[in-house]
Amino acid sequence: MDASSREAQRTDVLIGGAGFAGLALAIALRQGLGSAFSVTVADPALARGASDPRASAIVAAARRLFETIGVWQAVEAQPIVDMVVTDSRLQDAVRPTFLTFDGDVEPDEPFAHMIENGPLLAALVAKAKEEGVVLRPTAVVEFSLSPRPGSAEENAARAPSRRVEVELADGTALAARLLVAADGAHSAIRERAGIASHGWSYGQSAIVTTVAHERDHHGRAEEHFLPAGPFAILPLTDAAAIGHRSSIVWTEAAQEAARIVALPDPEFYAELERRFGLHLGEIAAVGPRRVRPLGLSVARAFIADRLALVGDAAHVIHPIAGQGLNMGLKDVAALAEVIVDAVRLGLDPGSLAVLDRYQRWRRFDTVAMGIATDGLNRLFSNRSDVLRLARDIGLGLVDRLPVLKHFFIREAAGLVGEVPKLLRGEAL
Ligand SMILES: Cc1cc2nc3c(=O)[nH]c(=O)nc-3n(C[C@H](O)[C@H](O)[C@H](O)COP(=O)(O)OP(=O)(O)OC[C@H]3O[C@@H](n4cnc5c(N)ncnc54)[C@H](O)[C@@H]3O)c2cc1C
Repeated sequence: MDASSREAQRTDVLIGGAGFAGLALAIALRQGLGSAFSVTVADPALARGASDPRASAIVAAARRLFETIGVWQAVEAQPIVDMVVTDSRLQDAVRPTFLTFDGDVEPDEPFAHMIENGPLLAALVAKAKEEGVVLRPTAVVEFSLSPRPGSAEENAARAPSRRVEVELADGTALAARLLVAADGAHSAIRERAGIASHGWSYGQSAIVTTVAHERDHHGRAEEHFLPAGPFAILPLTDAAAIGHRSSIVWTEAAQEAARIVALPDPEFYAELERRFGLHLGEIAAVGPRRVRPLGLSVARAFIADRLALVGDAAHVIHPIAGQGLNMGLKDVAALAEVIVDAVRLGLDPGSLAVLDRYQRWRRFDTVAMGIATDGLNRLFSNRSDVLRLARDIGLGLVDRLPVLKHFFIREAAGLVGEVPKLLRGEAL
């Protein structure tokens, strides 16, 4: 049925996608603009509950956002107190350390924490309900501008009366001043809007799992650059009946990753142990194994008429630096600030003039991060001895220059450049 043929329910902003980005944006908007500003989030995953078994590194800036919107207090987070980086071959008996980060970005503020995705998503859903966000457990399927651009009605209408008419999979029709695509890497909303993405596949996949180990990790994260790609050991909080745990993000060539995850348990553990080592004592895999293909993609535009893209819908990068979600939260903080400022000035939050501020704020930074992670992956995921020497000299230099190291820690923590208010820990 055509959405325009039914009486559409009105909402100021409709967000398609209830992942971290969509939910955080919805909460920030309600907190910034109050109950007179209506926000709806639609996602079929809302019916399934928070079942994501993965874990994520949340950098200091993103943690400040979660603290400011009042969800950080509801999750258990493991501070990353230091990080070691090694660059070696799989068969090397010893992995020399080239870089160590043991800095706080501010006194007593670690540069990152590890959280489990499931509890954080559950906390976001609970907070969204508390703030009066309307949650609809169904997908966005269609949308069109109303009145149609260039039509006589549109020319007669004042800009604030224009809407985007959206049809949900359950047949509901909604009319919003702004539609936000927060529907992830394969964003159907972005595609429906005709916005192309640039990028490529890396021919690599990441194997993700959780490992229990005998000894305490003491909050240390490890990134081992192996020829097939990075193998990261990221500390998690201890769990009852399991004890010490770490999250593994293990990059391999796509075919090899598919082979490894399909192995029977004993062989899978043997492959895991070859990479993990025995420095934390005996290890046992305790979580499900998942495999995710890796690629780079950046949307050609982050906005269109009454449409804004955030999170993976706008960009997907290599997890080599654990920055994908953190970049999405930077989008959220910037878009929330732009919308709140505009509405307080009486401006139309869906107009291109308002949205353009968001695009200028975020697109360059995103392209720069995309290029940086792409370069890192190319530099490290190869077998060239010449490149290996060059990168080891580079890493060694950074390790010996405190000023440079402090800059990289603040950069990795998301605190460099024009930082939006929520990422500085300031309410909107
Ligand atoms: C192996 C790996 C490790 C990673 N580790 C880290 C890390 O440590 N730190 C970090 O910052 N990032 C990390 N990332 C990146 C991070 O996982 C993503 O950037 C993040 O999950 C994206 O969040 P999002 O809210 O944009 O999208 P998603 O989490 O993908 O959410 C999109 C939502 O949209 C919904 N949806 C889809 N279609 C529709 C529709 N038509 N209508 C309505 N809803 C729809 C989906 O159901 C889903 O709930 C990692 C990625 C990988 C692959």
